[in-house]
Amino acid sequence: MRIVFMGPPGAGKGTQAALLSKELGIPHISTGDIFRANVSEGTPLGKEAQAFMDAGEYVPDGVTNSMVRDRLTHDDARPGFILDGYPRTVEQVAELDAMLRSAGTALDRVIELTVDVDVVVGRLVKRSADQGRSDDTEDVLRRRLEVYAEQTAPLIEVYLDRELLIQVDGLGDIAAVTAAILIAVSV
Ligand code: AMP
Repeated sequence: MRIVFMGPPGAGKGTQAALLSKELGIPHISTGDIFRANVSEGTPLGKEAQAFMDAGEYVPDGVTNSMVRDRLTHDDARPGFILDGYPRTVEQVAELDAMLRSAGTALDRVIELTVDVDVVVGRLVKRSADQGRSDDTEDVLRRRLEVYAEQTAPLIEVYLDRELLIQVDGLGDIAAVTAAILIAVSV
């Protein structure tokens, strides 16, 4: 299965995508995780991405698209994948379409985890304390939520029109949300 996870920062995409990845035996590909790994290793890609991430802005599409294009050609992604945090812009949607078209494949499902913004803020402030992420301070967090609303929320309409989108309430306990996602990907 080829699955995309959407939802604002703090919706639980990473947690749920990791669980689903185990359940389905397909890789969990998180663009945020790949960027963070590059930042901590000090690679050229990490150096390019860091300032954008620290400001709560998106890394430019060109950089992000080529990173994903490369990752999707790895053997483990051939039977399927869960993309977490990509696509996030209209241009990334078009790029992903082109990547899949040239591989002769297509998306099967887009899962949107829906959450209340106040709950999200609480979750992220806690995560910031637990993980020491530099992009979860309150100002940056507010900017990340704004950028999501401006640039990523419009994608919901795109995938609804394609009849790929299933919305799952992300606010239940972790196991209940996973169960709802498993139903969503099996229908
Ligand atoms: P995440 O862990 O998915 O919240 O991503 C953390 C940060 O990485 C984001 O705030 C962006 O700066 C960057 N990032 C991750 N995915 C993308 C993407 N698809 N497009 C642009 N920037 C991204």
